[in-house]
Amino acid sequence: MMQARRILNYSAFGLCSAPYQAARNACRGTAAKRRRTLKLLEAIVRGTAEFARSIVWARDSSNWHEENNLGDMEVRYLITGGAGFIGSHLAEELLRRGNQVIVIDDLSTGSIENINHLRNRADFHYAIDTAMNRPLLAELVDESEVIFHLAAAVGVRLVVDSPVRTIETNLKTTELVLELAAKKRKKVLITSSSEVYGKGREIPFSEEGDLVIGPPHKGRWSYGCSKALDEFLALAYWRERRLPTIVVRLFNTIGPRQTGQYGMVVPTFIRQALADQPITVFGDGQQSRCFGWVGDTVTAMIALSEHPGAVGKVFNIGNDEEITINELAKKVIEVTESHSPIKHVPYNEAYEFGFEDMYRRVPDLQRVRQLIGYKPTKTVDEMLRSISAWMQNRVCPICPE
Ligand code: UDP
Repeated sequence: MMQARRILNYSAFGLCSAPYQAARNACRGTAAKRRRTLKLLEAIVRGTAEFARSIVWARDSSNWHEENNLGDMEVRYLITGGAGFIGSHLAEELLRRGNQVIVIDDLSTGSIENINHLRNRADFHYAIDTAMNRPLLAELVDESEVIFHLAAAVGVRLVVDSPVRTIETNLKTTELVLELAAKKRKKVLITSSSEVYGKGREIPFSEEGDLVIGPPHKGRWSYGCSKALDEFLALAYWRERRLPTIVVRLFNTIGPRQTGQYGMVVPTFIRQALADQPITVFGDGQQSRCFGWVGDTVTAMIALSEHPGAVGKVFNIGNDEEITINELAKKVIEVTESHSPIKHVPYNEAYEFGFEDMYRRVPDLQRVRQLIGYKPTKTVDEMLRSISAWMQNRVCPICPE
């Protein structure tokens, strides 16, 4: 067993095995007769289980929380990728609301630092391992009632440098999470990305709109494509097998604990500004993004996971305040009172030859607003100030003590 694991021992089969054993002992007579009786018993057990499952699946699973009496109860949540930037904030918020949290993370892009302050809590359990570890993941899925699937290879830098890892991680983990969740009928929220909109030009991007992904020889698009496939699979599980799934597309989420190591622009710019180093704006800097606050993102994810109307649907989550990367660089300099110059770097140099960027990326937030009353709470300036304060003091302004 791994050193870092603190998972309760639990056997999903403990309950079923007692009557089965009793029946087995009750079988008397010749060996052949015992075998025949056992076979018959096994067939009955299998048949009954199948029948029970088919009744459960046939029911409409959209009122899953009520059906499972999880209304105001403490719920046990599994977060894959829970030591990552967003996952760790989600864990904190779920714990703050009085729930139990189990995290699985292989620390490939996440960090133990992100969950250090939670490790000694009795309501927090974690496993340092890949979400592709089938037996372990199966055990953790058994242990939980709701699954937030965040484990993924993320960041444009990582995607361009390691496309095999990106594609394999994103497809395999989602496939396994959904398969195991379906066996035990656990609700799953899958995190996708605004990257799935690709080169689409119909701004703002609506959940019903087309996905315009670039050609496969340009590595960048493998990320959006793998996430789109994750979405297809999650929605297929809902449609075909009535597994309650929800998909969220996150738009450039930012906040404390995000690292610039894998290409994310905000922590990169703030780090450069605090060191008075040149701010590296890629391309002409006219491309734009909308930056969403991590606190708003996790609040929305939890609200969606609890809302019966969210099941089987896709939701954009983020902020719709658009800003060009040139403007962002200027704001970062202003907020940090930096002396950094702005340096434009061609995409070919920054990433790879022929790199394609998304020109604009603005979410249509109507759907999430209508369902859960979602409203971004921070302006870009406020977010930059908070992140800059965190980077200077390593004190998290939105984390509970
Ligand atoms: N970017 C930049 N300088 C950097 C990192 C990123 O100008 O050091 C640009 C990048 O080309 C993109 C935008 O900032 O246009 C957002 O990049 P990020 O990697 O954060 O996320 P994306 O929205 O591209 O997934």
